[in-house]
Amino acid sequence: MNALAKPVKYVFVTGGVLSGLGKGITAASIGNTLKARGLSVNIQKLDPYLNVDAGTLNPAEHGECFVTRDGAETDLDLGHYERFLDVQLTRNSSVMSGRIIRKLIDDERAGKFLGQTVQLVPHFTNAIMDAVISAGKGFDVHIVEIGGTVGDYESPAFFEAIRELGAVVGLENCLYVHVVYMPYLSTSKEIKTKPAQNAVRDLRSMGILPNVLVARSEVPTNGSTRTKLSAFCGVPEAGIAILPNARTVYEVPLTLEEQGIAEFIVKKLDLKTKKPNLKEWEKMVDSIVAIPKVTKKIGVVAKYMDNQDTYMSVFEAIKAASWAHDTGIDIQWVDAENIKSPADAKKYLQKLDGIVVPGGFGARGVEGKILAAQYALMNKLPYLGLCLGMQVGVIAAARLSGLKQANSAEFDASSPDKVIDTMHDQAGKENTGGTMRLGDYPCVIAKDSISARLYKRTNITERHRHRYEANNDYLDQYESWGIRAVGTSPDGSLVEMIEAIDHPYFVASQFHPEFLSRPNVPHPMFSGFIESLLKK
Ligand code: GLN
Repeated sequence: MNALAKPVKYVFVTGGVLSGLGKGITAASIGNTLKARGLSVNIQKLDPYLNVDAGTLNPAEHGECFVTRDGAETDLDLGHYERFLDVQLTRNSSVMSGRIIRKLIDDERAGKFLGQTVQLVPHFTNAIMDAVISAGKGFDVHIVEIGGTVGDYESPAFFEAIRELGAVVGLENCLYVHVVYMPYLSTSKEIKTKPAQNAVRDLRSMGILPNVLVARSEVPTNGSTRTKLSAFCGVPEAGIAILPNARTVYEVPLTLEEQGIAEFIVKKLDLKTKKPNLKEWEKMVDSIVAIPKVTKKIGVVAKYMDNQDTYMSVFEAIKAASWAHDTGIDIQWVDAENIKSPADAKKYLQKLDGIVVPGGFGARGVEGKILAAQYALMNKLPYLGLCLGMQVGVIAAARLSGLKQANSAEFDASSPDKVIDTMHDQAGKENTGGTMRLGDYPCVIAKDSISARLYKRTNITERHRHRYEANNDYLDQYESWGIRAVGTSPDGSLVEMIEAIDHPYFVASQFHPEFLSRPNVPHPMFSGFIESLLKK
């Protein structure tokens, strides 16, 4: 590709009517269909709310905090982007107002504005445009999703920025996609387009005319809906995608393709492409919707119950591994706070085929997770520990071997046996943003471990997000506790993975393997977990 000769094409994805429509899935799916045509695609989320990053957002409300390879704490939509595009993004793909405002204020204090009045327009909007342009550099297409919906209090400057960008780079290089919702009235059995019309009007009032309309609905619609939307929203029928609820989110790229949306986009942006190659993706969707041969019960021992978004990448990783093994999964939430004794652990876990202990922060529910890990160790129940899940695995093994007060400094700073402890440079920074071991770190795996067999190699790199580490003072006791540190940092100073000795599958990592799982390429640790359930 000759980046100098060809202008970058921008696809802006905005939303109206309500949030939670799958705007991120839509943006990712558009990217998927463009990438399937041989184009190089980057993708970016602009989040208007005032946080600097997603690190301090409550996961129960906001969903998972996704971590990029370079250690940015971002919105969970980046996880969708990575899974749909099979790429590894960087912090450039996540822009929140707080980060831009902080830079503007720093620059203002440093006198960089030379006495100017610093304003939302042009200074804030210019900074947004700069972030978009610099992320898109060198790609054929750059997809930019704006979080929230048109009309939110925080967002006008973002809409103004993408409008202006159209003028700066030329409207022929930009395409605006608006994702809207059509409610279904069961009393009159009809789909209503009025809220969608209003949402398009809101967008037009900001000076943006959508080229593509993606209309979500909960039920299938008939042809007249498209005609009506086209007439009232000023978008040609060929640019309208109707997306009823899909069987799986991974079907969305195929639905867009069927409706000719990628072709419409390619034509509008005058892109030269290959024929789309979606064969592998189609095969994957077939395997996702196929009826599995067997179904296994997996317990997720956690404290944020009932909101799958909180553990989005974990669930996607479990599912990807299950699809690859033709296995149905019945995921059961186990509220860690309900496990107060070994008898409780037995009560909640004995009917399960395996358990996953995902990441987490804070003391609430942690004793229940430790009891669950002890149950898994004693009863040879398959166990997959992710970050906190490894830490409670170490604590569980230590306690079973007699160190009754073993704990993490995070939960009991006065414990005589802090088998999990603060990293020296992080002391005193608890409960603050951006003070963790974040992003990619290398790990070396012991040759004779389950993990080495699963990864099929011994040098790996995985993403991190944690403040505490296994305390090396206890390493030489591990074998007597029935566990091994099978993965460490290359210099041996940090424990990255543990396995239980003489156990069918007790594998846990200090890193978050779920971020590297792809729907069509399951992660080795998750694959191994599903395999161990099938052997039971
Ligand atoms: N709370 C633990 C730590 O900070 C684990 C973090 C996690 O699970 N992401 O080290």
